[in-house]
Amino acid sequence: MQKPALESVAILGGGTAGWMAAALLAKALGSRVRIALVESADIGTVGVCEATIPQIRHINAFLGLDENAVMRAAQATFKLGIQFNDWLRPGHSYIHAFSDIGLPYGLLPFQQYWLRARALGQTHGLWAYSINAQAAAQNRFARMERVGSSPLTGVRYAYHFDAGLYAQHLRGVAESLGVVRHEGKVAHVEQRPEDGFIDALVLESGARIAAELFIDCSGFRALLIEGALRAGYDDWRRWLPCDRALAVASARVTPLRPYTQANARTAGWQWRIPLQARSGNGHVYCSEFISDDEAASVLLANLEGPALGEPRALRFTTGMRKQTWLRNCVALGLAAGFMEPLESTSIHLIQSGISRLLSLWPDRDFDPALRDEYNRQTRFEYERVRDFLVLHYCTTQRDDTPFWRHCAHIDLPDGLARKLALFRANGQIVRDGDELFAEVAWLQVMVGQGIEPQRHHALADGMEVARLDEFLGGMRMLIKRAVAGMPTHAQYVAEQCPAS
Ligand code: FAD
Repeated sequence: MQKPALESVAILGGGTAGWMAAALLAKALGSRVRIALVESADIGTVGVCEATIPQIRHINAFLGLDENAVMRAAQATFKLGIQFNDWLRPGHSYIHAFSDIGLPYGLLPFQQYWLRARALGQTHGLWAYSINAQAAAQNRFARMERVGSSPLTGVRYAYHFDAGLYAQHLRGVAESLGVVRHEGKVAHVEQRPEDGFIDALVLESGARIAAELFIDCSGFRALLIEGALRAGYDDWRRWLPCDRALAVASARVTPLRPYTQANARTAGWQWRIPLQARSGNGHVYCSEFISDDEAASVLLANLEGPALGEPRALRFTTGMRKQTWLRNCVALGLAAGFMEPLESTSIHLIQSGISRLLSLWPDRDFDPALRDEYNRQTRFEYERVRDFLVLHYCTTQRDDTPFWRHCAHIDLPDGLARKLALFRANGQIVRDGDELFAEVAWLQVMVGQGIEPQRHHALADGMEVARLDEFLGGMRMLIKRAVAGMPTHAQYVAEQCPAS
């Protein structure tokens, strides 16, 4: 029998997770569901200068927002990918670019023809066939659906932005859709004695926010999912040992790069994120191998412009809640789990959590089958992202510091070991179900990290050598021509979406 629909939702937290959930749920559910959001200015948020992946653009489309307006508000720039420097060995560099690489042909993906051409002595790198990589190398950018009139897909991009400003923008959207904001600190969580379901949040002021469904976006505090409900946490530090970060902004540098940099350091790595008016920087490191003071010195010694303030320290335990939906509470953002921002996945995991919740939306019955499916899908997504991050570390050839020697001997999660063996065998990549990172992402990091397939697929030999040269040469030329016609990234931003 149809049970009554939910009529009220309370969101705890007004960081990126809280306001993203508020805006998207309000848009999807309309006025049938009352949404309240509680946040405390005294506690504040984690949001720094952050990098995203292309799926974030769906949020604008869903909310009906103009992309340039969002970018202006969040001081955003365009992001074509992430450049990894010194990860394989000092002096080595590659990019994980978001666009497709080359074209498939017949039954085979592009890399099989590229591997065959290499076996025949061609020296063009994989990234000669990526429009994003070529544009990034020249600091150029333009929105482009296709490469000329060819079947090659065009530029695929994400944003670098000020996450605090982005959350404020979403707050405006959420409030215009009827979300009611409460300022104050939650002092107590009321639970039903019979089954532990959450009944209400009680603020220090005495105000009581009752609801049927609670979304825990309280950040690392995880006040509801852990504080009240004791969901438990899976610690993944044996695979991803970094546990601290220091973040600081610095003055803007030129040229304005259309990509994030992830530069390996002696006991971790450092990000550089170019915004319109300044750059975001951070040093992610493992406290077992470097002290906080040393880590701060490394960060400050490797800024490209003067620091704008003191570094901010953050501590974390990589991993995820054993259950991210428990009773009538769903955790999103840092309350659900954390993985270092090496592939800029955290904000995306919030977005996909919201969309999963909407597709499994419960009624007042809270059927456990919906909860279990939510938890199963969430774990699948987190574990695949984890494996992709581990790939960057476990394949290093560095043995110059204890940290990198440790990383080179990390025990591999099963799924990753399988993927590596398959790629080594004959360059194949199999995407597991609808895991976040597609074959083209795995391909670039595998090749970038120096994994050499022993052979290419036998069917690639079916293409005559002259035809192979023409096939590959044609793509390189089209991409080169398209990139030459693009403005610089700085010109494009100044023209399309300058921050006021
Ligand atoms: P928070 O921002 O911590 O917000 C928590 C909210 O809960 C606040 O509003 C606070 O007031 C409220 N709150 C907590 N307790 C109470 C209480 N008792 N009463 C009332 N209110 C309360 N992600 C990316 O996608 N790309 C990146 O490049 C990236 N870089 C990162 C770098 C670092 C070092 C870190 C730590 C994270 C990074 N992230 C990145 C992750 C990203 O910052 C977070 O996923 C995102 O900001 C969501 O945070 P949040 O909203 O879950 O938590």
